[in-house]
Amino acid sequence: MAKPFLARHTWRQLACRKTTTPIIRRRQGIHNVSKQPRRSMTGTTLNPRQEDSSSEPQEQEQLRHRRHGLGKLPLVPLLRSILMQTLMSQVYVVDTASALIKRNMKLLTGNTLFKCVGNKTFYAQFCAGETESEIQRTLANLRSLGYKGAILTYAKEVEETRTMHNSSVAQTQASHQAHVDEWLKGTLRTIQYTGAGGFVGIKYTGAGPECVRLLGSGSKPDGVIANALDQICATAEKHGARLLVDAEHHVQQKAIDSWTLELMKRCNRDGKLVVYNTYQMYLKESTAILDAHLQFAEENGFNLGIKLVRGAYIGSDPRQLIHDTKESTDNAYDTAARMLATRHVENPSCTKIGLVLATHNAESIKKMRDLRQQQLRSGLRLTDLVYAQLMGMADELSLSLTEKRSDLPEEDIQVVKYVVWGSMKECMMYLLRRAEENRDAVGRTREAQRALWQELWGRILPNNVSKTIR
Ligand SMILES: Cc1cc2nc3c(=O)[nH]c(=O)nc-3n(C[C@H](O)[C@H](O)[C@H](O)COP(=O)(O)OP(=O)(O)OC[C@H]3O[C@@H](n4cnc5c(N)ncnc54)[C@H](O)[C@@H]3O)c2cc1C
Repeated sequence: MAKPFLARHTWRQLACRKTTTPIIRRRQGIHNVSKQPRRSMTGTTLNPRQEDSSSEPQEQEQLRHRRHGLGKLPLVPLLRSILMQTLMSQVYVVDTASALIKRNMKLLTGNTLFKCVGNKTFYAQFCAGETESEIQRTLANLRSLGYKGAILTYAKEVEETRTMHNSSVAQTQASHQAHVDEWLKGTLRTIQYTGAGGFVGIKYTGAGPECVRLLGSGSKPDGVIANALDQICATAEKHGARLLVDAEHHVQQKAIDSWTLELMKRCNRDGKLVVYNTYQMYLKESTAILDAHLQFAEENGFNLGIKLVRGAYIGSDPRQLIHDTKESTDNAYDTAARMLATRHVENPSCTKIGLVLATHNAESIKKMRDLRQQQLRSGLRLTDLVYAQLMGMADELSLSLTEKRSDLPEEDIQVVKYVVWGSMKECMMYLLRRAEENRDAVGRTREAQRALWQELWGRILPNNVSKTIR
């Protein structure tokens, strides 16, 4: 009697699609596939993708799988993604877990069992690690999947601002200095980890409660923060890194914009793009703010770095400031993206921009890809553009972007994954936001889940069986 498929093939063989392709082909009776990966004339190992020229239905089915790009994902991250997506799409699970974690943050992050389970699941899914070797391993893994790299961010952020009622001015100042120093140290380490050409995410609120207070009151950075920002910018310039300032709660956003514009004015000169600001297109005011910043950059002769997002604080930002419907947010996002990608065509002498299209929305990405294909066909210059998604989310989208498409004009597509590093405690606020975001994006999550399951079935089962299951 024939042994079950899984008994005859080790999990190692299922580890990624590259190794499973020959297995599946043998089962289908497709010949001339040796056990060893085929070698090209130059001796380099041929990727199974390069071998596919057959038009057989099974082969086409496999090609359809590969369009998701998930074939490159090793087995463990694939299984973990399925587990996380499944858990995070359950509203009840997310709400209960979030409430529990928020209420018992200190207790849980100090608990060995919670840390152990967390390390293997949500922390591994969304975070780069805590030590340099863990972080470097995560960055190397991302590069091996075809990404240009990461937007690496030190996770520390301030959850709440407590006033130190009984402290003296000197004590308050010392505490402020200590918070800023810790944040500065973490940010400088991030720049060092990412290396030349890398992206570094910056969260101003990580600099402590006094920084949060200054942002909230619309003040300028004080001497301590200004000094830290100077050091961060100088180090980024020296290492050739790019600094992407995160957008945060609306109450802090005016000051975040103003601090960041000042940095851009100073650093983004002579063709350089060192500092980027983030624009949350779910805010009704963002279209006008973006226009005003473009004009300010034009008048002051500097380059504008733009990270375009929809906005992650829908649960806490004032609802009346946010577009009334998801469709209006989508429209604002896509219109801004199009304007930024085409303005140099209408006005060739306009200020240089660097655009980071930070989204998991497949439609927004498709629109941008189509537009750039059109521009390429018309012989037009392309805007400096990077696609970005969060690590642990929308892998099917990110990986499919890294795939070369022979049917389209050649474009060197740059894809990066945003990832935070730090202790589990430092990453907790970020992780809670991701959970809420996934829970709210039911449609997108369902699509991602389907792609992940398809990929898993494609590895486990013979092609015709996995097809019927789907
Ligand atoms: C690389 C990267 C960096 C990011 N950096 C930041 C950052 O610095 N600051 C920040 O705030 N966020 C940031 N985000 C998160 C981002 O703002 C979104 O929350 C997230 O990406 C989901 O939006 P989407 O475009 O990916 O997908 P979609 O699922 O298409 O959009 C979901 C988003 O649409 C909006 N939305 C949903 N429902 C409604 C509604 N009823 N009315 C109006 N709008 C609605 C919300 O913004 C929601 O997050 C980042 C995301 C990525 C990928």
